[in-house]
Amino acid sequence: MNTHHEELTLKKYFQNIWNGIRTTIKGLSITIKHVYDVKPVTIEYPEVREVIPEGSRSRLFNDVQNCISCDQCAVACPVDCIYIASKPRPKDAEKIKTSNGTPIRRELTQYTIDTSLCCYCGLCTTVCPTESLTHTTDHEYASYTIDHMKYDYLDPEVVAWRDRIVK
Ligand code: SF4
Ligand code: SF4
Repeated sequence: MNTHHEELTLKKYFQNIWNGIRTTIKGLSITIKHVYDVKPVTIEYPEVREVIPEGSRSRLFNDVQNCISCDQCAVACPVDCIYIASKPRPKDAEKIKTSNGTPIRRELTQYTIDTSLCCYCGLCTTVCPTESLTHTTDHEYASYTIDHMKYDYLDPEVVAWRDRIVK
């Protein structure tokens, strides 16, 4: 009786060792297969860059020459991160229009977007009647301070940024 019990224990012991070896080999073979067979899914950023799809919604740009200060973008924004100020143009001022022929009756004095609050929903660009407000494909604009994420679109630096990234 005792001998039979010892035999069973010994059998179980060797069975466990074999199971350990078998499952280790199986696991390692899967790992090795993936290391040598699978093409890398990562890229060497920033030396290599993905092409961002044309319709993607990244950093916003307002081409202020075509903005009529209608406030529709600010009203549509669900997080209230667009700040606009404007004043009526003098009655005797030269009549000017946007590139799509809309008369410009007000002078834009401030157009700021706080991109640290923006959720890139695209509602502001959808309602813009002159299409002056658009999303660009620029997604590389990390900054050290939250304050630097506020963009003043009347600032020549921001206009220059647009010229740099939009071909
Ligand atoms: S994309 Fe959305 S959240 Fe961002 S400014 Fe436009 S409306 Fe506001
Ligand atoms: S909706 Fe367009 S035109 Fe109107 S204020 Fe906004 S950016 Fe300017």
